Amino acid sequence: RSRRQRQMCIRDRFMTVRVRYAPSPTGFLHIGNARTALYNYLFAKHHGGDFILRIEDTDIERNVEGGEESQMNYLRWLGIEWDESFDVGGEYGPYRQLERLDIYRKYVDELIEKGLAYKCYCTSEELEAEREAMSTHGHDNIHYSRRCLNATGEELAELEARGEYVVRIKVPENEVYTFNDIVRGEISFNSEDFGDWVIMKSNGIPTYNFAVVVDDYLMKITHVFRGEEHITNTPKQMMVYRAFGWDVPTFAHMTLIVNENGKKLSKRDKDTVQFIEQYANMGYLPEALFNFIALLGWSPGIEEEILSHEQLIELFDEKRLSKSPSTFDKNKLSYINNRYIKALEDEELLELCMPHLVEEGILEGKTTAWAMELISLFHDRLSYGAEIVDLYDEFFSEELELDEEAQAFIAQDGVSETLKAFKTELEALEDFNAEGIQAAIKAAGKAAGAKGKMLFMPCRIATTGQMHGPDLPKALALLGKDTVISRIEKFI
Ligand code: GLU
Repeated sequence: RSRRQRQMCIRDRFMTVRVRYAPSPTGFLHIGNARTALYNYLFAKHHGGDFILRIEDTDIERNVEGGEESQMNYLRWLGIEWDESFDVGGEYGPYRQLERLDIYRKYVDELIEKGLAYKCYCTSEELEAEREAMSTHGHDNIHYSRRCLNATGEELAELEARGEYVVRIKVPENEVYTFNDIVRGEISFNSEDFGDWVIMKSNGIPTYNFAVVVDDYLMKITHVFRGEEHITNTPKQMMVYRAFGWDVPTFAHMTLIVNENGKKLSKRDKDTVQFIEQYANMGYLPEALFNFIALLGWSPGIEEEILSHEQLIELFDEKRLSKSPSTFDKNKLSYINNRYIKALEDEELLELCMPHLVEEGILEGKTTAWAMELISLFHDRLSYGAEIVDLYDEFFSEELELDEEAQAFIAQDGVSETLKAFKTELEALEDFNAEGIQAAIKAAGKAAGAKGKMLFMPCRIATTGQMHGPDLPKALALLGKDTVISRIEKFI
């Protein structure tokens, strides 16, 4: 091993892990962003390192009002806390790029002084004309002609007199950029594939590929976990690291998230809810979503998939990041959320469902005890808070819809007698509660000479329309005497 490799090894061993999540506030917290944040967070916490939140707001036209706030609120909602940022402080601020313009300017000037970057005065029309000419002459690589780099004397003076300029980095010749990606392995690019690209725009704002390097260097970032759309940015960033003589962090480019048809999850895909805020509003639990997202492109290496925050931190191993696209499996999300809901107390679940019950007016004229009964009835079946409304509607709807199997069952001989007996017993009940109803079922069985499935199934189907469902006596108590009796009458 070379001296340098040995030094790097020593550096790796003693260096505190520092990672960052660097959202551009161009939208709300998307499931893909949340995953990036989460893997950075899990990696940092697994290694006892620091997780930094940096706002990359240099693309001013694309920034959206409330984007930064949504990102931060919903990261916190998910349970992802950062060690450094503009709101919690830290030694490496400012943590918003627009507040760092002086810093970038200094580093741009340094490259210009060293002859590694230069001012370009070409107008966009000139650049367009240049590109067109190159393409009609069949050039393979259509790169900037370096007119402003090569200009001297009068031409240079004339260009400089224009005043307005961008700064371009001088892409070195015959350079190879190789990095060992944690997910993809070795990836190489040649400098020939890049023209001198802009590092600072005419308004003094740096471009992403430049600012990200200055920040990652100054903030002592050791590892970069981000989406695979950034793979082709990496060689550009390596150029900047090399120009300054800085060490390059370790990269991990995560694979795409695809929908159930194998297509890249796009923000326009209407069939999949993709923003964390929407899940919060629908009554998903943050711990469940955290668990689900952690498995969206990473495997824990053990069978159990219901894993707490602490377990995920403990188990996180970047070597098990998926090498193929990860499918956003809605059923799995429902399953995981249901598992977390089952672990709640009825009171906690009521709180989760409350906004939805209130919004639909379901609790009007009802007592808290009634609401608790409703919750306990569906507790095990619920996948998310808002679903209580669907279950309620299905359960309390005026018209029962029977499937074929239920219809066939209830059409059997003798069922009518059982139902008549059931009705008589129920009518005699003074307190229409679960115990009374339980006793009424039993008594009806005796009176009509029906037992087992031939007793319970008709009672269930006639009152709920379904062959499966919640605890029947409790459910009927909740439905109320009038509804139950009138439902039964329709089948007699
Ligand atoms: N602001 C970039 C983004 O939102 C960050 C990319 C990076 O992590 O380097 O995609």
